[in-house]
Amino acid sequence: MARARIIPIFVPHLGCPNECVFCDQKRISGSPLPASAGDVVLALERAKTLGVTGGELAFYGGSFTAVSPALQRQLLEAARPYLADGTIGAIRLSTRPDAVDAETLAMLREHGVATVELGAQSMFDEVLAASGRGHTAADTVRAARMVKAAGLRLVLQMMTGLPGSSPERDVETARRIIDLAPDGARIYPTVIVRGTALEELWRAGTYDEHTVSDAVAVCADILPLFEAAGIPVIRLGLNPTAELSDGGAVAGAYHPALGELVRSELLRRRAAALLEGVPAGSRVTLHVAPERVSAMTGQRRANLTALKAQFALADLRVEPSAAGEELLVDVER
Ligand code: SF4
Repeated sequence: MARARIIPIFVPHLGCPNECVFCDQKRISGSPLPASAGDVVLALERAKTLGVTGGELAFYGGSFTAVSPALQRQLLEAARPYLADGTIGAIRLSTRPDAVDAETLAMLREHGVATVELGAQSMFDEVLAASGRGHTAADTVRAARMVKAAGLRLVLQMMTGLPGSSPERDVETARRIIDLAPDGARIYPTVIVRGTALEELWRAGTYDEHTVSDAVAVCADILPLFEAAGIPVIRLGLNPTAELSDGGAVAGAYHPALGELVRSELLRRRAAALLEGVPAGSRVTLHVAPERVSAMTGQRRANLTALKAQFALADLRVEPSAAGEELLVDVER
């Protein structure tokens, strides 16, 4: 049976003159070698053999448009026959806001690129400078407008917990990103990766770790903003890799199920709001849609333990709701 799917090609650090403090592309992408046209052909031939049709070729992990124009064309030309035969229907890539111009965007579009992802990271210049990003928030605004004007889909990536940032700045960054009306967003809470400048700053005590619980708290403030604006958050947290899990992530907000933790926190907050005024000693049942029972309960029953203590309840349990309601509270005194 034909299958549609994303075919990722990692372009680690290729052409990137920058030294973002958090970045070790080799570890983050799990691939130590720059991509070549041969890699593109190999991946697409494999996809074709598996019967993929209408897939999406995704160049991730680097600064695609900062690569030499010749190499950009080689990588894209390698994909052309597979666009023609329907193995893939579109191409997406990620790049830096200061590596985008109208001519490049037109070339990308001609080669079948449908989506450009920009690493905005923060909308505060002080945070961008402290993080070694080498571009400004104004660069992001300009690039975002150009991507849309070129008729390409725009995805903006932001980070939380960067040096010089704060939860308030992270939330404001989300608001300013929403103002740019992207078609989607990715949120990457800062992870301290072994061997990066950020690890040195952290070990020297000049950077405070953005813990998993810090990330969950701020992302639970941010996620509803994107949802209310109708902008899908297509990724929350770094993709887990064996290397990061096996010690590559030395500290910071690395958790293989960060998105699930944030959804769980959002449910805890909603339950807490509904439990306001419930008398101490009550026995309470929370009814949620069956697929949300585990998020409502929380990892190691964390939500139930916290809510039970906060409202001094005699008993608190979660049950799947037959009617499929989002969240209902049933109080028995
Ligand atoms: S721009 Fe920064 S995050 Fe991106 S590859 Fe270069 S150093 Fe890494």
